[in-house]
Amino acid sequence: MTSLAGRLELTWGELGDRTVWVRTPGGRLLRLDDQGLRALLDLDRGRTVGQVARRYGVAPEEVRGLVDALARGGALRPDGRGRVTRAHRTHDEPFAPWLLGLAALLAVHGEYLARHARTAVLESWTEGLVVVGLALVAALLHEGGHWCAARPHFRPRFGLTWLGWLPAAYADTHEAWRLPRGARLRISAAGVLVDLVVNTGAILVAVACPELERFVTPFVLAQLSRMTLTLNPLVDGDGYWLLADGLGITNLRTQARRRLAERRLDLYALFALLSLALGLLSLVGLGLLLWNVLGNLAGTLL
Ligand SMILES: [Zn+2]
Repeated sequence: MTSLAGRLELTWGELGDRTVWVRTPGGRLLRLDDQGLRALLDLDRGRTVGQVARRYGVAPEEVRGLVDALARGGALRPDGRGRVTRAHRTHDEPFAPWLLGLAALLAVHGEYLARHARTAVLESWTEGLVVVGLALVAALLHEGGHWCAARPHFRPRFGLTWLGWLPAAYADTHEAWRLPRGARLRISAAGVLVDLVVNTGAILVAVACPELERFVTPFVLAQLSRMTLTLNPLVDGDGYWLLADGLGITNLRTQARRRLAERRLDLYALFALLSLALGLLSLVGLGLLLWNVLGNLAGTLL
C-alpha cells in the first residue's frame, strides 16, 4: 500500500466517552476509540500501515481493514489534496425541561386515573376494536415523535419491523449515537412525550364529555402498557437508551447481564428489577387490551 499522506479526506469529532465518530465524504460513519483515531492521524502524516500496526501492537490486517472501510466511504483521494478536519463539539441541548414536562403530564394521568377513570374493560368487542385501532394510530404518532426530535440533526428513516407477530413501523434513529448526550436523551424520550401528550388530550376529552370515559380509560391503559414495554431497559428500545445515556454508561446491558449472572447486588441488579417490574406491568396491560376484544367476543359467542 502506498503512503496515505495527504490522501485522507474526512471529518471527526469527539463523542465524550473516549470514542470518536469519523465521517467520510460518502457519508459513511465509523466509531473509533482513541487508538483508532491516533492510528488514522499517523497514516495521514505518512506512516505506513506496517509502522502504525507495530506502534499500536495490532495486526496489520486490522489497520488495512480500517483503511478499506475508509476507501469504501470515499475518504481516499488520489490527488493528495485530502484534509482531515476536526469538528467542533456540537452545542448540547438541556434535557431537564423535558423531564419537568414529562412529570407534569404524568401527574395529569395520575389525577385522572384516581378520580375520573371507571372503565377497565369495555362492554362489547367492537368497542374494544375501536380502542385497539386508536392504540395503533397512537403507536405511529410515538414514532413520529422520535422522527421530529431527530430531524434537526439528521434525516431519520422509517422502517418496518416485527413486534412478535405484529408488523410495526419505527423511526430509525441509530445515527443519534454521534450526537451529544442531551440531544440523544431528547430523541429517546420524544416518543413517550408524544404518548403522554396524546393521552392528556384524550383525558381532557373524557373530562369534558363523561360519556366518552369508557373509551378513553381503556385507551390510556393500553398506552401506558405499551409505554412500560418501550421503557423497559432490558428490551432494546427507548428505556434502555434513556437509562444508558442518563447514567452515562456505555454497554450497560452487557455489563448488567454479566453482573446478574454473577449474582451481584448493585446498580445493575436494580436495573434488572426495574426491567422485571415493567415487564410484568406491560403483560397485565396487554392482557387487558386483548380481553377487551377477545373476552367480549367469547362472551358474545358463548
Ligand atoms: Zn420509541
